[in-house]
Order: sequence, then C-alpha cells, then structure tokens
Amino acid sequence: MKCTVTVIGLGNFGSTIALELTNLRQDVIGIDTNASRVNDIADHISQAVVADARDERVLRELGVHESDVVVVAIGEEIEASILATLLVKSMPKPKVWVKALNHHHHRILEKLGADQIVHPEHEMGLRVARALIYPEVVDYISLGNDYFNVEVRASERLVGQTIDALNLDANGIRCLLIKHQEQIILPPLDHYKFEFGDQLILLGTLSNLRKISKHL
Ligand code: ADP
Repeated sequence: MKCTVTVIGLGNFGSTIALELTNLRQDVIGIDTNASRVNDIADHISQAVVADARDERVLRELGVHESDVVVVAIGEEIEASILATLLVKSMPKPKVWVKALNHHHHRILEKLGADQIVHPEHEMGLRVARALIYPEVVDYISLGNDYFNVEVRASERLVGQTIDALNLDANGIRCLLIKHQEQIILPPLDHYKFEFGDQLILLGTLSNLRKISKHL
C-alpha cells in the first residue's frame, strides 16, 4: 500500500520520519521554512518545499489536503505547531500526527482533534530506561491495559531446554513465536529446544512478564 505523507518541520524528528517513510517506499512531501533543511533532504524524498505551514493557501497549493497523513513535526514553535494542526485538521482527508512538546501543548492538540500525539523524547526516555534495567528485552509494544508484547533474548540458561520448562501458561503468558536465526517458528513447538541467540515474542501483563523474566 502506498501512502502520501506530508511532513511539516524537517528537524531531526521530522527528517528522520521523512527519510524512513521514503525507505518504506511511501511518497513524502517535506515542508520547512528553513531553506537549508529543505535543501539537505530535497534529493532524498519525493518533494521538499520551503514554505510556512501557517499559510493555508500555500498548504492547499502544495496538495497537503490530498495527503493520507500529515505529520506536524515543528519543534519549539508551539504557536506554529498549533496553527498548522488547526489548518490540517480542517482538511477532511489526512490523518494528523503531531509532535507535542509538553503537557499543555498535548491538551491543546487533543482539543484540536489531532489523531495521534507523540512525545518522542519522553517515549525514547522510557525505552532507554527500560532497556537499561531489562537488557534481555530487545523490543516491546505496549498494548494498553497493562498488556505488553515483548521480544526477549533467550539466556544461556535456556539453551537445550524446551518451552515447557518455562511454565508460561501457569504464569499467564503466551509465547507467540520463536525467532531462531533467520527462521520464524510459528507457533512455537512444545518440543523445540532453545539454542543460543534465540529470541521469544511473549504476550502478557507487565507484572507476569517481570516474574517470568528471571527464568528467561
Ligand atoms: P527537532 O530537531 O527536535 O525535530 P527542530 O526545532 O530542530 O526540532 O525542528 C523543527 C523544524 O520545524 C525546523 O526545521 C523549523 O524550521 C520548522 N518550522 C518551524 N516553524 C515552521 C513553520 N511555520 N512552517 C514550516 N516549518 C516550520
């Protein structure tokens, strides 16, 4: 599926999104008031334009209203971020993702109807803190209601053991799949014996996952 995404604000956050979406073969329009930021990215995305996102006429001329998604990644200038969000929210088609700087900004964006509000530094801070405490966790997704999907490395202790040894069911946890080198073992077979470097994708509540993490 190919989407057209407009990224407003091409600082570190916005340009990373724009470049990664391009890697994922999406059409990306980048907008920034700063010409050097636009020049830096111009050769790498579909279209990069020097423009002020507070100007509705300019946004329409650029076809922003036809985008599937608009990401408002304006940094420190909260007023510009709010105004750009307001303008883009008046366009029926695009979903609007906005980077929030703080709690007050978040509340305003919520009232304006932003479809997704992200706090990249806060979210990255949480991930880094958790990675420090749980080095065996490769990645995780919060599913809400205290449920997490986590990807963990099997420790040396598990090598040669079967999944039964972990007693996952009794601990309220499901193993969704095992990653063995390039191979995905789905569903995980009861008699499969762990090898060094295997990774498990587990589903459970945070407290259950914490309990089981000692045995992984
Ligand atoms: P970060 O690097 O944390 O993502 P920055 O503050 O460096 O954040 O980047 C925000 C970008 O948003 C800057 O390149 C800035 O020029 C751009 N910007 C600010 N106001 C507007 C606006 N009204 N229209 C378009 N781009 C804007």
